[in-house]
Amino acid sequence: MRKAVIAGNWKMNTNLNEAMNLVKQLIPVAEEALCVEVIVGPPFVHIPALAQVRKGSRLALSAQNMFWEDKGAFTGEVSALMLQEYECEYVIIGHSERRLYLQESDGMINKKLKAALRHSLIPIVCVGETLQHRQENKTWQVIKSQLDGAFKELTEAEINKFIIAYEPVWAIGTGIAAKPEDAIMVHNQIREYLEHSYSKGLANAMRILYGGSVTSENIRSFISNDTIDGGLVGGASLKFNEFSAIIRTTNEIKGEK
Ligand code: PEP
Repeated sequence: MRKAVIAGNWKMNTNLNEAMNLVKQLIPVAEEALCVEVIVGPPFVHIPALAQVRKGSRLALSAQNMFWEDKGAFTGEVSALMLQEYECEYVIIGHSERRLYLQESDGMINKKLKAALRHSLIPIVCVGETLQHRQENKTWQVIKSQLDGAFKELTEAEINKFIIAYEPVWAIGTGIAAKPEDAIMVHNQIREYLEHSYSKGLANAMRILYGGSVTSENIRSFISNDTIDGGLVGGASLKFNEFSAIIRTTNEIKGEK
């Protein structure tokens, strides 16, 4: 039985005060949602303060990115080693905004995944097609190539530690979520890929999240299907009422299964 995950990606939003308030409000929600792993991904600068606030709670912390080296002359970068100091357990790797604006390649993502593994951070690996890819019927071709690149030289035992987030680029921040049936199809294709490339065991064990304009209104339509293990949530994760409703709905639905 795979444990459900609801992860909030705050992106480059919140000041310290807002971040602290949101985390304080979310702690009791996470405490009650026992069937869900609840994760928030604040900007790097808030992580030390939030680590103190969340200490001992069920609310977990994720970084939104990290560099692949542990230390050295890499101006502006943050390493897995540094994140570990603040009990940051997860890290989002390969978000489409980083692929687009920071030219993050599959090779860079692969190096980051290896570094996360070295320091026992759980990567949330993002894959997804653009609107053009979808219109050209290249959705699976693109996602397969992202997975091939990300997982290069990694063993099944290593990949087993990951969470995958399927995030169609055209659905992120647009208010236009994927149709649940389209998301389910890609989730199933990812599971088939894992089975053929590795094993049925890995395909069954992998937690795969849907991301892209998830709201408290539409979360149910995604997570009602067994193949979707939760959500990676951007905009709605910044609003307490929205995010807590998403967590509660997921807890209710996955708890019944
Ligand atoms: C995201 O940033 O990963 C995301 C899915 O954003 P949004 O929920 O705002 O579409």
